Amino acid sequence: MTHPGATPSDKHKVVIIGSGFGGLNAAQKLKRADVDIKLIAKTTHHLFQPLLYQVATGIISEGEIAPPTRVILRKQENCQVLLGEVTNIDLTDKTVDSILLGHTYRTPYDTLIVAAGAGQSYFGNDHFAEWAPGMKTIDDALELRGRILGAFEQAERSSDPVRREKLLTFVVVGAGPTGVEMAGQIAELADHTLRGAFRHIDSTRARVILLDAAPAVLPPMGEKLGKKAQDRLEKLGVEIQLNAMVTDVDRNGITVKRPDGTIDRIEAATKVWSAGVSASPLGKIIADQSDAEIDRAGRVKVGPDLSVPGHPNVFVVGDMALVDGVPGMAQGAIQGAKYVANLVKSELKGADPAAREPFSYFDKGSMATVSRFSAVAKIGRIEFAGFIAWLAWLFLHLVYLVGFKTKVATILSWITTFLGRGRSQLTITEQQAYARTRIEQLEEIAATVEDEKAAS
Ligand SMILES: Cc1cc2nc3c(=O)[nH]c(=O)nc-3n(C[C@H](O)[C@H](O)[C@H](O)COP(=O)(O)OP(=O)(O)OC[C@H]3O[C@@H](n4cnc5c(N)ncnc54)[C@H](O)[C@@H]3O)c2cc1C
Repeated sequence: MTHPGATPSDKHKVVIIGSGFGGLNAAQKLKRADVDIKLIAKTTHHLFQPLLYQVATGIISEGEIAPPTRVILRKQENCQVLLGEVTNIDLTDKTVDSILLGHTYRTPYDTLIVAAGAGQSYFGNDHFAEWAPGMKTIDDALELRGRILGAFEQAERSSDPVRREKLLTFVVVGAGPTGVEMAGQIAELADHTLRGAFRHIDSTRARVILLDAAPAVLPPMGEKLGKKAQDRLEKLGVEIQLNAMVTDVDRNGITVKRPDGTIDRIEAATKVWSAGVSASPLGKIIADQSDAEIDRAGRVKVGPDLSVPGHPNVFVVGDMALVDGVPGMAQGAIQGAKYVANLVKSELKGADPAAREPFSYFDKGSMATVSRFSAVAKIGRIEFAGFIAWLAWLFLHLVYLVGFKTKVATILSWITTFLGRGRSQLTITEQQAYARTRIEQLEEIAATVEDEKAAS
C-alpha cells in the first residue's frame, strides 16, 4: 500500500525511522534540503525521555514532554510524518515496511536514517516486565504513576498490617540516573506531597529501596559523585542495597541474591525496572542483511561515518548505534543525526561519499537529579553536586525541551512542586488503577473456558 496524500516525487527520498532525539534532529537539519522526507515512527509524539520520571511521579503531564511530531514539523514542507511500526528493512530493494492497524505500507528510500532507539532489557527475564515496568515510554510512566499512587490508596483501605507494609514498599531496580531520580522522587512524594493526606496510613513511613547488582550508585559518574548521590538519597530515607542481584520478580515482591550467596525476599507491591537497555530489533534486521555486527545489547556497529558497512546510504544513529566513545545519551543521538543530515546535504551538492570526514562526538557532560534542590553533574573533568548542579540541570532540560508552550508549562509545574508541596499531575484514572486487574481476570476466565473446552 502507498501513502495516501503523498505526492509522487522524483526528489531524493530520505526515510527516517523514529521521532526521538535522533529522528527529529535529522529531519529538522534537512529542513532546507531539496529532498522528500518520510519520518515513520510508532508513536505520534517526540518523547523527551529524561523527564519521564517526573510524569511517573506526578510532577508534570505527559503533554509537557511529548509534543506531537507532526505539529513540531508542521512548517517543514519537505517532510511527511507517518505513524506506523517499522517491521522490516530491505537493504537490497531499498524499502521499509511499516504496519498501522494491520495494514502494511512499503516506503522506498534513497537514504535511510535509522533512529529507533532502545527498549528496556530484563537480561533474558522478560517475564519480570509484568511486575516491574520499565521507564521508556509515556505508557510506562503512566502505568507506574497508577501503580505508585494506587498502592497508597489500597494501603489506606487495608486492615492487614503485613499487606499494608507490602503496599507501602517501593523497589527501584537499577541505580543509574533513572533509578536514582525515581527513588528520590517516590521518597519526596511520600514524605512531602502526600504527608497528611491519608487518615489510616502515614505516607511518610513508606519504604523506598534502590538496589543494584553493581557496588556503586551512578557508576558512570565516578565514585565521588556516586557517593554524594547516595548520601543525599539516604538523607531522604531511601534504603540503598548494592551488590544485590535480582533473581526473580513476581506480583508480591522480588528475590535478591547477596554477594555471600544468601537469598533474600523483599515483599513489595510496586517495583520499577531501570536496570538495562536493549536496542531496537531493527538492528538485527540490518545486521542479517549486511556485514554489520551487533553487540549483546543489539546495537549496530556502524562505520566512522555512522553508515552500515557496505551500505553508504544507510545510517544508524542514537541508542541503536555502537560507536566508540559515544554514550547512549540524548547528545549522542542529536549530534549523530545532525552529522548524517549534513552528509546528505553536502553529497546532494556533489561531495564525494568516499571522502567523508568521520563523526566526532563532543562530550557536553552528564547530570542526574537526586531530589529537589540537589543534583550531581560532570562536565569534562569538573564535577559538582548540590544546588548549583540542580540549577544547571533545570536550565539544560528547559533548553532541550521542544516548544515554547511546553517550556512555560513545565516551569509552572516545577514551581508548584519545588517551591510548594503540590504536584499538579496526581490524577490516576479508574482505568489505570483497575484495568490491569480486570484484564488479568478476563485472561483467567478465558484460560478456564479453554481448559473446560479441552476437557469436554
Ligand atoms: C528514563 C530515561 C531517562 C533518560 N535521561 C537522560 C538524561 O538525563 N540525559 C541524556 O542525555 N539522556 C537520557 N536518556 C537517554 C536518551 O533519552 C536517549 O539516549 C535518546 O532518547 C536516544 O535517542 P534515539 O533517537 O536514539 O532514540 P529515542 O529517543 O528512544 O527514539 C526512538 C524512536 O523510535 C521510534 N521507534 C522505535 N521502534 C520503532 C519501530 N519499529 N518503528 C517505528 N518507530 C520506532 C520510537 O517511537 C521513538 O520515536 C534517558 C533515557 C531514559 C529512558
